[in-house]
Amino acid sequence: MIGLVDEHQRTLAFAEVALGQIRSLRQSAVPRNYEIWYVYATGYNAALNKIINETLARQGRLSESDLDQIYETYLSQLRTSDRIDKVGARVINEIDEVMNLVTDALGLTKALGNELDGATARLVGARDRDAVMHVVNSLVKTTLEMRESNRMLEARLVNAKQEIGNLQASLEAIRAETLTDPLTGLGNRKYFDRAIDDAVEQALANGEPLSLMMFDIDHFKSFNDNYGHLTGDQVLRLVAMSLKATIKGQDITARYGGEEFAVVLPNTALRQALTVADHIRRAVMSKELKKKSTGEILGRVTISVGVSMLQNGDDTRSLIERADACLYAAKRNGRNRVVCEADPEYCPNDHIQVA
Ligand code: GH3
Ligand code: MG
Ligand code: MG
Repeated sequence: MIGLVDEHQRTLAFAEVALGQIRSLRQSAVPRNYEIWYVYATGYNAALNKIINETLARQGRLSESDLDQIYETYLSQLRTSDRIDKVGARVINEIDEVMNLVTDALGLTKALGNELDGATARLVGARDRDAVMHVVNSLVKTTLEMRESNRMLEARLVNAKQEIGNLQASLEAIRAETLTDPLTGLGNRKYFDRAIDDAVEQALANGEPLSLMMFDIDHFKSFNDNYGHLTGDQVLRLVAMSLKATIKGQDITARYGGEEFAVVLPNTALRQALTVADHIRRAVMSKELKKKSTGEILGRVTISVGVSMLQNGDDTRSLIERADACLYAAKRNGRNRVVCEADPEYCPNDHIQVA
């Protein structure tokens, strides 16, 4: 239980740092500011720490609006729908403005048409040079007005195009965020569910091989119990980093659940998938875990991996169930190993049914 006492003390230390910052920068001790400084103290959100350090270096303080913006950008995951609403409102605004301009321009075009009709009749009836000049001058005036209006419309449309481009980028960033697991930076479950469906559909349609790998950290509960959840979270990041370093290109990686990860390998047959799986297993095992604050060696973590390959008549669910059954077999047979559906350890009916 030494780990839990340790954990308690660490969180208290973070809380003290957070309150210390609030005090020394004379900010109000409201939950939002506390959350910002607590996360800053943990050091887990590198982007948040970077922006705070840069702002402090530049202006020596953080204004309310800086804090608002930092919270909005780096912490308020739950406000995605608000942010989408805001971007939506800006899109509607932009369209309204452009529509008004187009309506004005159409009005001018109609006025020019009428003017031309009138001018034709007036030219036919013109008796002398002055009368002709009068008609011509009025046509030139209207044409110049029209040219100016077109110039304004064009400038505004260029502006609108750029603004709509910015809004598209904002929506894309929000979309990416809703599909990312904030702890590890990998795709989240929602991303995985969509991506595997697409990949399976494509593989079945093109008759291409596809493999699925699911892995789970061994005895992670006791690791958490010994060293605390914060250290556990760091291990999850480390495993995710090993995964990212091993996997490349078209492969789809995601955090499937708490300490479970999944990788879809399009265009990959079982044998190659097993090689990749073993690379990841070895990469995770090779890392010696060290507590940053004390330098204490925490040992190593291992993973168990289950690998299945898409077969005729399969769908996403059956593919996942088989990978899961293989993972279960890997656990049962001693952990820190890779089991696939061609292995004798694999037992199709001996797994936890997905509801
Ligand atoms: P096994 O080898 O059979 O997988 O044993 P296990 O202890 O890893 O498995 P179990 O399912 O009993 O426990 C999973 C544990 O993973 C529970 C929880 O302590 C931990 N865990 C799940 N999600 C998180 C997380 O987001 N952060 C941290 N720190 N721990 C997590
Ligand atoms: Mg586990
Ligand atoms: Mg688990």
